[in-house]
Amino acid sequence: MNKILSSFTKIISPPYCIGCECLLPDYTVLCTACLDRLPAIFSQTISVTVSKTLTVHALTAYQKPIEKLILAKLNSNRIPIDQMSFLLSEHVKKHSLDGDYIVPIPLHWQRTIWRGFNQAEILAQAVARVLHKPVCKFLKRTKNTVFQSKLSATERKQNLENAFKCVISLKDKKIILIDDLYTTGATAVAAARELYKQGAASVELLVACKVID
Ligand SMILES: [Zn+2]
Repeated sequence: MNKILSSFTKIISPPYCIGCECLLPDYTVLCTACLDRLPAIFSQTISVTVSKTLTVHALTAYQKPIEKLILAKLNSNRIPIDQMSFLLSEHVKKHSLDGDYIVPIPLHWQRTIWRGFNQAEILAQAVARVLHKPVCKFLKRTKNTVFQSKLSATERKQNLENAFKCVISLKDKKIILIDDLYTTGATAVAAARELYKQGAASVELLVACKVID
């Protein structure tokens, strides 16, 4: 099935570099020159509770040309997410991550239906294939926080209170959360808080892009 999908994708999306539009020798996303120009991966540790932290690993900064891949999700365009999955899985091959479960940051079910897919879930599947760990969807979004981007930092925090519910116990499990974009971190912190509440030993977040102030 994946082979069919990949052949289909090749036909409707020829291998042009999303950075400089040069023709690529194979189905990749960026040419070597544009890849070299991407800002390097970076990690940052933030507080979740008094004693718990979340380490955030970002593949790159949210800027051209990668932002094209992120924005495409708003038009329910699946191909750029597959391209992003490719970049993220290439990254994971080189930088090992330690976790028992790969957990996509969930979208509210209404938004998943509207868009046709959850981009975080597609990225999680790509990462899981490299790490040989299961993608688990035990984290649910119980609130539809659609207008999050229009809120201030404090309002975001209030809006996300009890927005996530983990439906199983995670005693001593290490979790790798996955998302496409990291902005203020409010969503990731709310998700990590719920995972820790259910007994997780550690929570790390891998994102494709991080907004740089
Ligand atoms: Zn290029």
